[in-house]
Amino acid sequence: MTTIPPDLYHRHPCFNASVRHRFGRLHLPVAPGCNIQCRYCNRRYDCPNESRPGVSSLLIKPQKIEPYLSSVLKRHPDISVVGLAGPGDPLHNPDLTFKVLEKIRTFRSDLILCLSTNGLNLPDCVDRLEELGVSFLTLTINSLTPATGAKIYEFVCYQNQVFHGPEAAFLLAEQQQVALARLKTKKIRVKINTVVIPGINDREIPALAERLAAFQVDLMNLIPLLPVPGTPLAQVLPPNPAQMAYLRHQAGKFIPQMTHCARCRADAVGLLPQARQSLAQ
Ligand code: SF4
Ligand code: SF4
Repeated sequence: MTTIPPDLYHRHPCFNASVRHRFGRLHLPVAPGCNIQCRYCNRRYDCPNESRPGVSSLLIKPQKIEPYLSSVLKRHPDISVVGLAGPGDPLHNPDLTFKVLEKIRTFRSDLILCLSTNGLNLPDCVDRLEELGVSFLTLTINSLTPATGAKIYEFVCYQNQVFHGPEAAFLLAEQQQVALARLKTKKIRVKINTVVIPGINDREIPALAERLAAFQVDLMNLIPLLPVPGTPLAQVLPPNPAQMAYLRHQAGKFIPQMTHCARCRADAVGLLPQARQSLAQ
């Protein structure tokens, strides 16, 4: 196994917008389950024409990783990043995720490893993720206060116990902050994803950015709510471009903002502008 190249930032199309037309990413859909329920998420609905996180037309088992990577990379030599981003939470089942990361690393040592999580199980996984060579991590944090979090999270399931309401949101936020404190000591770049939900969390986003800046996170990605049929937030109107620009400006006073996110599927393949493309198509 060769050493991981040091200048990874210049090959990551999400963390570095200037290279997004040259380098692509591959999302490996290996994580079906999730340990929380966000009120905007519905992973049951799979339409090959739909492009949003949580959607995947296939699930890949660890023993199929190598042939899958081999076939995709042959067709997309510009892929520099392999990310685990669902369709559930990759750390819901950390052992499976670690096995997948080991396989990718053994298959091709030059690929950048990236992972997205809600952070509930992250504190105990930070060391192992670093050992496995994960160098970019996305953590979704949607609320500043437990009262707001209670409107976003239906439940949080931690250590075989199910939590609801502000207690659930508080527990999730605690875990996220413990993880962020640990990540500060690691060579892992951190992006925060925040889903902007008008009337629920939009007003506290600048203060959330200010709090997260204390953890020296690298990037913040404000994502407009995509109302998904069949979810409790299906009727909420998404923020308009002017609202998003205002919030990015306000949050940008504390953390650099990502503005080119393509809200990719959990099985997305290729350059970011091709976010709708999945292997199943
Ligand atoms: Fe869906 Fe992700 Fe929320 Fe889990 S953490 S419910 S997969 S959006
Ligand atoms: Fe990058 Fe956004 Fe797509 Fe994730 S969803 S791979 S951050 S563009």
